[in-house]
Amino acid sequence: MRTKHEKYLLELTALPTATGREQSVIAWVERWARRRKTVDLSRDRFGNLLLKRIGARSRKPIFFTAHMDHPAFVVVEQLGPRSLIAEFRGGVDDPYFVGSRVRLHSGEQDSRPGRVTRLDPPTKPGTDKRVLIELTKPADAKPGDILTWHLPAPRITRSRLRAPACDDLAGVAAAIAAFEQLNKIHSKQTAPDPPSSSGSPGSPDVRVLLTRAEEVGFIGAIAACKSGIIPKAARLVALETSKTFPDSPIGAGPIVRVGDRTSSFDPDLTYRISQIAQHIQQQDPAFHWQRKLMPGGTCEATAFQTLGFTATCLCLPLGNYHNMNADTASIDSEIISLSDYHSLIRLLIQVGRSLDDRAASPPLKDRLDRLFAQRRSLLR
Ligand SMILES: [Zn+2]
Repeated sequence: MRTKHEKYLLELTALPTATGREQSVIAWVERWARRRKTVDLSRDRFGNLLLKRIGARSRKPIFFTAHMDHPAFVVVEQLGPRSLIAEFRGGVDDPYFVGSRVRLHSGEQDSRPGRVTRLDPPTKPGTDKRVLIELTKPADAKPGDILTWHLPAPRITRSRLRAPACDDLAGVAAAIAAFEQLNKIHSKQTAPDPPSSSGSPGSPDVRVLLTRAEEVGFIGAIAACKSGIIPKAARLVALETSKTFPDSPIGAGPIVRVGDRTSSFDPDLTYRISQIAQHIQQQDPAFHWQRKLMPGGTCEATAFQTLGFTATCLCLPLGNYHNMNADTASIDSEIISLSDYHSLIRLLIQVGRSLDDRAASPPLKDRLDRLFAQRRSLLR
């Protein structure tokens, strides 16, 4: 199982993707879904993808969500055989651009190397910075083609993954891996879905929502809140990779993220998932997890929560966030820990199985009610 989950990770984090230009990731997910008879793939009118187990129905499904884009360049126009203008969609600091190497991904032809030679700031709010790129050899580029940073293919060394785009393709990989495992568990249980509010414990209705255009302000997530693809009573667990800090180190386990730079998440859902993580650790002391506010950025859970849904976030500590290596002041591969990734999948599977099991993940209110019942005599 670990081998397969690592294969998903290595394949996905290699794909060239950009905000609004997520086709290669979409094609990967389409191929994956086509090979699985029990999986239904649909999309909303904005192109966000939804994976669902065929026949699953409930009022309160659990959603694992992840975004399919990564900071990258999109061609605006070709000026000459070797030069083109592109815009950069996503958050990377200005000093990283001029001189950095890039690769053009255009149609079926092999990617073409080049270099950023000029950076122009955005001209007005809601637009992106633009760059001039000189290719090493002449190539045909069309508006909309993607350029990525020129980085080595993903590789695993000493239990770390170094890849061009962990954010958030590692989240996509984890969501799909956990979803697949939960479907297997379901198919081993012969009974049909009972018409309960959220499926029976161990046979939950877990869906995967893969969004577009997160890197410029989670536009796809906002769209998903408006498109009707998320049932009102759904519980959303947004999966992210999030900039590591000294108190949230890589390798210390996946993070139950209580909030981000902008807002804090649903207290009850966050508490219940923490309880589930705690329970896994009690059974297996080798399992590590963290509970943190990760203030390095704002994630889609803020969008879901603000627009009326119940949401929280699980994330992986990420090194070289958005390909910025602060030590070398240069563009570099992003880094996550492989054991954090596997532990995230394990936690997601357990969330799927026991979020609706009151004994395994008791609501926070139950705890307060119990405390009050035990101790109210003190107030006499
Ligand atoms: Zn990001």
